[in-house]
Amino acid sequence: MLNLEELPTGQDIMALAASVVAQEFDAVIIGAGFSGMYQLLSLRDKLGLKARVLEAADGLGGTWYWNRYPGARCDSESHSYSYYFSKELLAEWNWTERYPEQPEILRYLNHVADRFDLRRDIQLNTRVKSARYDKAANRWTVTTEQGEIFQCTYFITAVGCLSSANVPKIDGLNDFGGDWYHTGQWPHEGVDFTGKRVGVVGTGSTGIQAIPVIAAQAKHLTVFQRTANYSIPARNAPLTEEFKRYAKEHANDIHVIMNSNTNAHPFYIKSRSVFDVSDDEREQIFEAAWAKGGLAFRAEFSDTLLDARANKVVADFIRRKIRAIVKDETTAELLADIDHPFAAKRPPVDSHYFETYNLPHVDLVNIRKHPIERITSSGIKTAEKVYPLDIIVFATGFDAMTGSLLKIDIEGRDGLRLKDAWHAGPRNYLGLQVPGFPNMFTVTGPGSPSVLCNMPPAIEHHVDWITNCIAHMREHGVRCIEADDQAAHSWVLEVNEAANSTLLPSATHSWYLGANVPGKPRVFMPYAGGFAKYRKIVEERTQAGYQGFSLST
Ligand code: NAP
Repeated sequence: MLNLEELPTGQDIMALAASVVAQEFDAVIIGAGFSGMYQLLSLRDKLGLKARVLEAADGLGGTWYWNRYPGARCDSESHSYSYYFSKELLAEWNWTERYPEQPEILRYLNHVADRFDLRRDIQLNTRVKSARYDKAANRWTVTTEQGEIFQCTYFITAVGCLSSANVPKIDGLNDFGGDWYHTGQWPHEGVDFTGKRVGVVGTGSTGIQAIPVIAAQAKHLTVFQRTANYSIPARNAPLTEEFKRYAKEHANDIHVIMNSNTNAHPFYIKSRSVFDVSDDEREQIFEAAWAKGGLAFRAEFSDTLLDARANKVVADFIRRKIRAIVKDETTAELLADIDHPFAAKRPPVDSHYFETYNLPHVDLVNIRKHPIERITSSGIKTAEKVYPLDIIVFATGFDAMTGSLLKIDIEGRDGLRLKDAWHAGPRNYLGLQVPGFPNMFTVTGPGSPSVLCNMPPAIEHHVDWITNCIAHMREHGVRCIEADDQAAHSWVLEVNEAANSTLLPSATHSWYLGANVPGKPRVFMPYAGGFAKYRKIVEERTQAGYQGFSLST
């Protein structure tokens, strides 16, 4: 008997058809964060291309969609953590605080999506599974987990540098009777810590932001510290009307400063050495910078990240501050026992982080000395004792820079898989293209300054380059662009050289080196030569006829 209720509906048939018939685009972009949104706008509205953004989440915002943990806030200052491509957008948007909080950044990105009518070309709830290049057709085929197929000429990854959560593989996690969360996959409904015994694992930028906020709610907080960290007070505050006016009126100047310095922040690194000034003068400079707060603390002297002796002077000032803030001597020593140079790992900024350890219900545990052995049904067991917990928060970071790319099965020319091409670490040219992967572009890929920068200017630079490159290709009948193998080889050496001329690699456990993910190749991933220098290199090689790339007609 024919059961009419079980017959496929028109909608089912459409969905089935969509799942097997390839949808044709000029460009497919993965990710709807800062990068993907601006890339869509640029290709669609400037070049008139048919472009589609595929986004795994059910909302846009990228890292700011996922990172909703308590205290989540950007360490870049609001007026610089913005798109600068549109004067009108700059003029109309008003940030409320010195550092934007996660919900405000998400509101901003949603405003951008509405203002530029981006939503119609962003497909949410769509996780890309694989992408395969067909040499004969010079097309990429992108397949989603739902079975949809997209074909395109230009395949652009805008997956973010810090989006693949690193949940440590600790024995017994599945047996834990309470709740556990990773900060990068925070529940949208939030977590109520009231009356709970909470454990936080991790004291990087995220942990340092979350710990004071969680402590304000929890009955008891135990922080499990593997590596002690420096932190500078953020000194967050509402923006004054005067500053808001200043930032708008000087937007052009601010933009020039960001594009012409080392870290794309709205300030220059001062040209003096730590040793150019007397001890008293230096102390005054440090005190003033500490009182002002923020990432500009590291910009007071030019040799902080270049000379170990200079760095020690800066680091010792911060250690003295920690000891002055934290009342319990043992806790203060544990927090000040930092094993790497200041800013060799990404320096966090905080709101009352060290002060939090003065609260009677907050404890610090040294898991470098007594490592976590396992998680039990009721808490965390270290080599020393068991800590009973109701909630565990993993602020344990990300499989940074390569993790999100390598989760997708990307196959380039002649069957070359990205995971094989990068088995010894990321290998690409200028952080923009990988040899063997024609017409594939990586926005803020490894090998570019990206995470060493204030991200939006780094993103805008890459998106503009990719857009101009595609425009050039179309104007000149270029079918295909691909990074040369030799150029990538040399660029990897340049990236290593740039890192080795700083103290950055001496933090041997940093995520810049991939050291936080067991088994990940130890390669310094971002380009450490500075944003301004990098822009100059990219510009010169582009002007020289896309030097280091092969363009075929
Ligand atoms: P992170 O810097 O990698 O810090 C992770 C922390 O977890 C470290 O203390 C690490 O200890 C610890 N950890 C990792 N695996 C562990 C394990 N198996 N057992 C015990 N401890 C473990 O990660 P994050 O704090 O999420 O920050 C990542 C980056 O995101 C930052 O550097 C920054 O670039 C960005 N971020 C930006 C903002 C902002 O702008 N507001 C905020 C947060 C994050 P070890 O040091 O010993 O590995």
